[in-house]
Amino acid sequence: MAGCVRKETISRNKPRFGQRWLAEGFKPNGLRCLALIHLRERPEVCGRPTMRVWPRSSLWRIQAKIETAFLSQAALALKLYYVCGMSDLTILDMNWVGRPHSIAAALLVSGGHYAIIDPGPESTYATLREHLHSRGLSAAQLDAVLLTHIHLDHAGASGSLVRDNPRLAVYVHNLGAPHMIDPSRLLASAARLWPDTLHQLFGETLPVPKENLRILEGDETLTLGTRKLEVAYTPGHASHHVSYFDAAEDIAFVGDTTGIRIDNGPYILPATPPPDISLEIWENSFAAILARRPSRLFLTHFGYASNPAEHIDEFRRRLHHWAELAAEVLKSSSDEAQAKQGFVARAQAEMQEQIGAEEADHHAFTAGLDLSFLGLARYLRKRAEAEATV
Ligand SMILES: [Zn+2]
Repeated sequence: MAGCVRKETISRNKPRFGQRWLAEGFKPNGLRCLALIHLRERPEVCGRPTMRVWPRSSLWRIQAKIETAFLSQAALALKLYYVCGMSDLTILDMNWVGRPHSIAAALLVSGGHYAIIDPGPESTYATLREHLHSRGLSAAQLDAVLLTHIHLDHAGASGSLVRDNPRLAVYVHNLGAPHMIDPSRLLASAARLWPDTLHQLFGETLPVPKENLRILEGDETLTLGTRKLEVAYTPGHASHHVSYFDAAEDIAFVGDTTGIRIDNGPYILPATPPPDISLEIWENSFAAILARRPSRLFLTHFGYASNPAEHIDEFRRRLHHWAELAAEVLKSSSDEAQAKQGFVARAQAEMQEQIGAEEADHHAFTAGLDLSFLGLARYLRKRAEAEATV
């Protein structure tokens, strides 16, 4: 970060056509950020102290605003080449089991405050530390971990982080908190779902002491340095799922609430593992996200998704389609194992048709197609039981 920060005095003596000059912008959220501007015309205006950058904005917005401001202010043909400095929001690729672009954590820096949204499983904790190290940070410097939910692929590294940094605050929904303090039930049910590969996939999940937890219900506003994050309760994928909204960045960190979409790609698929799936409750969470009108979604699997309204429409369509597919194969199969095979084969084939075999395999692995079937089967069974008792 420090290596990026350079300053050059702007003076009337120095500029000439093609002169590049640096103007120190500001300290967005405690970080220095410089803009490199190439003056193409009217070099005599170089002495103007016009550099201004907008705090708590994402880099692209800073760029756009500088350009607009300069151009409209003096009708200058100024071109912004780049904005240098560490972004205050960084995607960290956890490279889960050697697969890039499957699990993403977000590093948020604001006013000297360091937070991570969903640090990932314990099996990728070494990767997380490497990411921090490459930015001149360590686990000991983090202030907060914000969990969207407690599933191992999102929250598993939390206990290790607290072991290495006992002052760390771990934000989690009320319903998930007991399983962070004592993960034994969570691990037992995970062991049933991944009987042979639990450790390889998720590593050694450590408990988080109660005093490190900050309990959320939804509707809180968190202050992290100079950044404010709104919390919304967004169940559907899990009963204890929350999403975080950063109004300054215009981003919603939605965990698994709006499914899986790798790098804003063409295919959006649900992750519907047992035991909490509910399509009805999920609908309220879509509304909660859309009501805040974010311009982008940040998905744990994987990265930014643009146009949240279109994304959620497509996700909803696929979610309901998969629920129908699960009901169909359950009806036509002799038992649940056969139904699971049928569901996975049909879902894989649909994906392959749209994105090819290699990408379909990556999507299926990241989502856990067989788990998605088990979650949908359980949801359908519970719904049928509830209807029978009415
Ligand atoms: Zn997940």
